[in-house]
Amino acid sequence: MLAEEVVATELIPPFDNTAVDGFAVRSADVASASPATPVELEVVATVAAGAVADRPIGAGQAIRIMTGAPIPPGADAVVMVEDTSSSDGGARVAVTAAVAPGAAVRPAGDDVRPGTVVFRVGEELSAAHLGVLRSLGRSEVLVHPRPRVGVVSTGDELVEGPAPLGPGQIRDSNRATLLALVAAAGCEAIDLGLQPDVEATIAAAFEDGARRCDALLSSGGVSMGDFDYVKRVLDRVGEMNWMQVAIKPAKPLAFGHVGGVPCFGLPGNPVSSMVSFELFARPGLRRLGGHPDDRLVRRPVRAVAPDGLRRTLDGKTHFQRVVADYDHAQAAYVVRSAGGQGSHHLAAMAAANALAVVPDGGGVEPGGLVDVLLLR
Ligand code: AMP
Ligand code: MG
Repeated sequence: MLAEEVVATELIPPFDNTAVDGFAVRSADVASASPATPVELEVVATVAAGAVADRPIGAGQAIRIMTGAPIPPGADAVVMVEDTSSSDGGARVAVTAAVAPGAAVRPAGDDVRPGTVVFRVGEELSAAHLGVLRSLGRSEVLVHPRPRVGVVSTGDELVEGPAPLGPGQIRDSNRATLLALVAAAGCEAIDLGLQPDVEATIAAAFEDGARRCDALLSSGGVSMGDFDYVKRVLDRVGEMNWMQVAIKPAKPLAFGHVGGVPCFGLPGNPVSSMVSFELFARPGLRRLGGHPDDRLVRRPVRAVAPDGLRRTLDGKTHFQRVVADYDHAQAAYVVRSAGGQGSHHLAAMAAANALAVVPDGGGVEPGGLVDVLLLR
C-alpha cells in the first residue's frame, strides 16, 4: 500500500520510438504506395533497439528499424515489415502501403510526462504499478507494510491432522480459514498454533503473538461457556471489550489490546468466525495496512432473490450465505441460499460467494430485493 505520492520526473517512453519492426520513412514519400503501385526507397541504415541512427533520412530514403528503436531524424512514420519487400541485398525496399504521419510512432511522454502525479497515497501496488515505478527509475517508495497478523485457535476438543478423531474431538478448521482470510485481506498471516483450554498456554500464545505481530486474532472461547478461558486470559494480559452483537451468525465478539497490539476475539463456530472476520476484523486490519477509509468495508450491492430468503423475527440482522450470480438479461445480481444456514454449516459457507444482509423481520419475499456483500 503506497504511503507517498509518486510524481513522474521522466518521460515514458523517454524518446520517440517505433511500435513495429519495419522501415522508418517520410510519410509524404510513400503517400501513393499500394500493392499495385509500390514505392521504392533507398535503405541507408539499420537501427536496432538500444542503438541510435547515425544519420537522418532524406527524400526517397528509409532506415530499417526494430521495435523500440528511436525514430531517426527526418522520419515521421514507420511502415511495418509486412507491408514491404526488400531487394538488392537489403539496399532497397519496396513499400506497398501508405502510412499517415505518426504511424507506428510512440511519442516520447505518450504514457507518462514529468510532473504528472502517477500514483496517490493509498493505492495498492499492483504488478503494473511496479512496472511504472521501474520505468521511472524508482526502485524504492514509501509503503505501508503488510500488517503481521497472528492467528490462534483454542479449545480442548480440537485436534490437528488426519489421525482418527477420539470421542468428542473435532478438527481445527478455523486456523486454516482465518490464516487464509488474513492473507486475502492483504496481511501477512502468522500461525500461532492450536492451544488447549489451559490458561497458562493460552496466555503464553497471546503474549508471544503480541511481541511478533501487529494484530492478533483468536477463535473460540469468547462466549458464555464454563471453559472459555480466552476470556479470562485476555482480561488478565490485555484490555478487552466483550460484546454481544445483534447479528446472526457471530453474536459474541471481543476487541481490545494485548501488549498494545489490537486483538480480535472471534467466535469459535466456523461460520461465525468467518462472518465476524469479514464484518469486524477485516476492516480493522485494512486500516492497519493503510487502506483509505472508503475502502475498508465492502459496499453492498442490490440483488434479486428469486426464491426469497427465509428467516424469523429475532431482533438481529442476519448474514445469510448465498450464491450470487450476475444475470446479464436482468442486469442484476441474483442470489440463492448456498445451503444450511447454521453457524456450523461450513460447506455452505464454502459454496457461498456472498453474504445477504437480511434485516430483522420475516425475510425476503420471493422476487424481493436484498443487499449483498460480494466476498469474491
Ligand atoms: P467456543 O466459542 O469455544 O465455545 O466454540 C464454539 C463452537 O465452535 C464449538 O462447537 C467449538 O467446538 C467450535 N470451534 C471452536 N474453535 C474451533 C476451531 N478452531 N475449528 C473448528 N471448530 C471450532
Ligand atoms: Mg472452546
